[in-house]
Amino acid sequence: MKRAVYPGSFDPITFGHLDILNRASRIFDEVTVLIMNNINKDYFFNWKERLSMAKEAIKKYSNVKAEMFDGLLVEYTRKNEITILVRGLRAVSDFEYELQMAHMNKAMCPNLETVFLMTDSKYSFISSTIVREVAKFGGDVSPWVPEYVVRAFKKKHG
Ligand code: ADP
Repeated sequence: MKRAVYPGSFDPITFGHLDILNRASRIFDEVTVLIMNNINKDYFFNWKERLSMAKEAIKKYSNVKAEMFDGLLVEYTRKNEITILVRGLRAVSDFEYELQMAHMNKAMCPNLETVFLMTDSKYSFISSTIVREVAKFGGDVSPWVPEYVVRAFKKKHG
């Protein structure tokens, strides 16, 4: 049984995230989208909103679940017997940080393997940060995020 976790802020979830999730669901037996909630981080959407968007996103998969976690990732993987950590790579700019994280996680939990999946080039420029910026100024974000995220932005921005 190959169990994987796909952790992130997902603030909000974008088509880029969904592309990685879709690939991961085909490679691994079970995938958990883990909405990380770091108390030192300021999120635009709170964890309940981010989790509810993730729950919408995973409806079509029978082998994917979504949860929230506010601790150390390796503790979660150990407790849930997960040995694969999935992260998405867009460009070289993601690489340095991701490499550092992968080494840290490996040092803390030697049997946890980080697997990087490359996003489809058409999603490689999408980031939650840019989507939030566009939405803040009233721009149309529907090319980059699912409809339920567009609605969540409208609700927040009024
Ligand atoms: P974090 O705060 O942990 O970086 P994010 O929600 O920004 O959380 O990203 C979660 C994961 O999804 C990361 O591995 C990130 O590189 C990946 N990711 C983010 N945007 C995209 C995208 N457009 N295409 C592919 N992967 C992405």
